[in-house]
Amino acid sequence: MHEMSLAEGILQIVEDTARANASAQVRAVVLEIGRLSHVEEQALRFCFDAVTRGSVADGARLDVLATPGRAWCMPCGESVALERLGEACPLCGSYQLQVTHGEEMRVKEIEVA
Ligand SMILES: [Zn+2]
Repeated sequence: MHEMSLAEGILQIVEDTARANASAQVRAVVLEIGRLSHVEEQALRFCFDAVTRGSVADGARLDVLATPGRAWCMPCGESVALERLGEACPLCGSYQLQVTHGEEMRVKEIEVA
């Protein structure tokens, strides 16, 4: 389950930020997850709760923002919006798409006490 290693990576960032701010308590973590990423939000929440237990982020609120997906369509020669992976180009129906945005996940904000 790769959500566990993602959650551990998030905790690392959170702990570094808490240390940099000399804070012993993190109130909330805001994540951006692309619509085209393979991250399962429920699984990630479960793993986040598990890895943060006993850490500075124990009990912290996890907010998840979904960022839109975009891909480059070869036949159209332009950038198009994509709701999910595996969808065809909304303009021409082609599957020759190169995903450009929406596969990434990042920590957007960390709220410390
Ligand atoms: Zn197209």
